Amino acid sequence: MSGSIVLRGGTVLTLDDARRVLPGEDVLVEGDRITAIGPALEVPAGTTEIDASGGIVLPGMIDTHRHLWQTAMRGYGADWTLTQYFVWYYLEWGKVFRPEDIYAGNLLGAWEALEAGVTTTVDWSHGLQTTQHADAAADALEAVPGRFVLAYGNIQDAPANWTATPEFRDFVSRRTGGDRGLEGFQLAFDVTGDPAFPEKPAFEVARELGVPVTTHAGVWGATGDDGIRLMYDHGFMTPETIYVHGASLSADSYQRIAATGGSVSVSTESEQSAGQGYPPTWALRQYGIPVSLSMDTSVWWSGDLFSAMRATLGADRSREHLEAHAKGETVTHAALRAEQVVEWATRGGAAALGRSDIGSLEVGKKADVVLLKNDHSPVSFPLLNPFGHVAFQAQRADVHTVLVGGRVVKRDGRLVGVDLPALRRRVEDTVEHLRAQLGEEAWRQGMNPDVPETKILDNPYTYTDYQSDRTHGG
Ligand SMILES: [Zn+2]
Repeated sequence: MSGSIVLRGGTVLTLDDARRVLPGEDVLVEGDRITAIGPALEVPAGTTEIDASGGIVLPGMIDTHRHLWQTAMRGYGADWTLTQYFVWYYLEWGKVFRPEDIYAGNLLGAWEALEAGVTTTVDWSHGLQTTQHADAAADALEAVPGRFVLAYGNIQDAPANWTATPEFRDFVSRRTGGDRGLEGFQLAFDVTGDPAFPEKPAFEVARELGVPVTTHAGVWGATGDDGIRLMYDHGFMTPETIYVHGASLSADSYQRIAATGGSVSVSTESEQSAGQGYPPTWALRQYGIPVSLSMDTSVWWSGDLFSAMRATLGADRSREHLEAHAKGETVTHAALRAEQVVEWATRGGAAALGRSDIGSLEVGKKADVVLLKNDHSPVSFPLLNPFGHVAFQAQRADVHTVLVGGRVVKRDGRLVGVDLPALRRRVEDTVEHLRAQLGEEAWRQGMNPDVPETKILDNPYTYTDYQSDRTHGG
């Protein structure tokens, strides 16, 4: 279904520059664009009418970092630490994923995002051991009617190696650029801080291709200030660079990020339970560093951004209270507002991706629109503080309608055009394959993996033994 659609009478959170909230107004979509916003709009004959009364209309949400290929292992790692994750995926079992397993995870994760009103997702795809895996990842993303940026990575090899292969170059020329199906392309790799800077050739490839780099930076023990300094000294910190997590960094690194215009993708649920460091929004705000939100991976956490907004507000405020208490003071007014996290979940992601055509509801913008409305829920009223309602009250089941570029991908609480039984079979095949590869004991143990004693396992990057003095006691 496309053509013209009008959402009638909702509370419209425009997320425009003035952050206007428009109670009881309509949003008209024609083709792939928003063409009018206002009260009681006159609409072209044949326009599909959607009753948004009692609901909230907001821009499609944007997630700047999630590992979709891991979605087929949903919930498996609920009790992992980051070290256990590294053991399971990086060192032991990530290599048994076949292209069809990447496909299954991506397909499941892509629909999961849309279902929760996440219309644009950066697929931080670091399981691409071969370009067959990469083609599978891209095929799945292109099969789902959302916006997906493929951030290409490969944890099984050094960035300098996999970016140098002719197969990789061939993939880039076949699958990216122009009006091909992917919404964008990035290189995804981490910077260990090894003074030899083994990641430098991969940055040079990114520069040559003209594509952004996204990097897990500020992950306790794995990536930190040393990596930031190397990037800075070699001129690889640019405004389009997305630093994922950005915890466990010093003031010096935050200043370098701020000065070079990059942004941080904060995955609060992840940082809180895996151990990258304290969710850093409370620090990023002080340095004026732009923030977007992300959920990281469904192997542990929630694939919706309501959870991310909620967790981020909680972590930021919690930190403020604790810092104040340590000084014998009381916080009387919360610095981080609900409105701010809704902004991070929408236009913050758009800004991080350099996209001015999405992230807000304004005439002329792409019609990526979410309607939150659930007439069966006692949580849907009263609607007194719309931003607060989105951040603390709403959840996935309240996502009534989702439009991506004017196309209805969810309507009346149901995804449009998804074949869930077929998707379930694909995912079951993957789970069965992995289970057979591991064997029952390793499968069971994998939910709480042993950590080999041969290596300090906060450095999962097998191409270097480097460890920072800062996190290893000097
Ligand atoms: Zn991640």
